[in-house]
Amino acid sequence: MKYYSTNRQSPEVSLSEAVIKGLAPDRGLYMPERINKLPQGFFDKIDTMSFHEISCAVADAFFGEDIPIEDLHRIVKDTLSFDTPVVKITDTINSLELFHGPTAAFKDVGARFMARMLSYFIKQSGQTEDVTVLVATSGDTGSAVANGFLGVDGIRVVVLYPKGKVSERQEKQFTTLGQNITAVEVDGTFDDCQRLVKSAFLDKELNAKFKLTSANSINVARFLPQAFYYFHGYAQMKRAGKGNNVVVCVPSGNFGNITAGLFGFHMGLPVKRFIAANNRNDIFMKYLQSGIYEPKPSIQTIANAMDVGDPSNFARILDLYGNDVEKIRKDISAYSYNDDRIRDCIGRVYKATGYILDPHGACAYMGLEEGLQPGENGIMLETAHPAKFPESVEPIIGRAVEVPATLQRFLSGKKQSVEMSSEFGDFKVYLENAL
Ligand SMILES: *Cc1c(COP(=O)(O)O)cnc(C)c1O
Repeated sequence: MKYYSTNRQSPEVSLSEAVIKGLAPDRGLYMPERINKLPQGFFDKIDTMSFHEISCAVADAFFGEDIPIEDLHRIVKDTLSFDTPVVKITDTINSLELFHGPTAAFKDVGARFMARMLSYFIKQSGQTEDVTVLVATSGDTGSAVANGFLGVDGIRVVVLYPKGKVSERQEKQFTTLGQNITAVEVDGTFDDCQRLVKSAFLDKELNAKFKLTSANSINVARFLPQAFYYFHGYAQMKRAGKGNNVVVCVPSGNFGNITAGLFGFHMGLPVKRFIAANNRNDIFMKYLQSGIYEPKPSIQTIANAMDVGDPSNFARILDLYGNDVEKIRKDISAYSYNDDRIRDCIGRVYKATGYILDPHGACAYMGLEEGLQPGENGIMLETAHPAKFPESVEPIIGRAVEVPATLQRFLSGKKQSVEMSSEFGDFKVYLENAL
């Protein structure tokens, strides 16, 4: 399968090139040249299939031409070391819980899959030297990437983060790992961390000596595997007798997650339509209303992983729908919620049902409350465990949120980090000695 750039100004590439490069040279996002439909027989029996079996069928449709089946299925198996169950909240609202992975957020799926696919392609290329992934983080990306790549052969990860500017819980998720993961604590801001990473990618001497790469969230190997759990979520709805008129609501920031769902939809996933739930960063909702895309600086909210003013995967949605806003409106609607609404929703739902939403999931819950029509069955994607946001959630529900074992493990680990100034010269000397 070939991959083309959404900007169509650079040549088509193979899967391995798209995965290793991440972004196309013309700064567009890679798209598969075809979206293969899954056969009716698959959907007839999907409710009898395991998460692994379903995901293998989906992975085959995307990657089966480029990776031998047994290698691909092993990558799928190693990626999905946890389940994504559907939990009923009300008669019409069900939560697809994506937080049972190592860092208790849905980004685990994409990060784990990408790490294994990258490792596979590195081995295939016969390369013997380790590849180093550099990633700057303001909190959550670092933990998903570090944990996704933990213990993966042939890859080292260096996570840069701003000293004193991430929460203790976040910091523990990438500083306690050891093995092939190193955390670098920069005396500066997140922007300084990003500058150091960019400078390293541009530095001729470093690149001549080391194989440096990024684990950007727009990578096809991070974004496409997210389609797996949409099919698994649908299968569980079908099994529960609620497989008709399914509407999927996705709390969206960079729109990678919902775009993976839309790819599933174009493969034949039998759901009716999608809802994008936004916090106050409502660029996509405004686009649906006016037909005009106007990126804005991001606004800080309590659903902070969705604080995005210029969603990078918007280019993929436009491409998928041939730039036709009417067609997009047919499949997707959008709503936006401010922090007061998010807090109110967490409190209300807890009181009425006992279910604890996180701030991102709360947006998706409200999207279904507002958008579901009579006779429709809603699935909201619960993208993170509420214990990741105790400072927002606990005062609202008036009690502590139980910390899942996955997160607990980090909290009891010992922090290890390398202290660094924000000068590129210092970082370069460090890399030359450490790699
Ligand atoms: C990253 C993230 C989102 C937004 O996902 P996109 O793919 O960027 O739209 C939503 N919720 C949580 C918890 C996240 O970490």
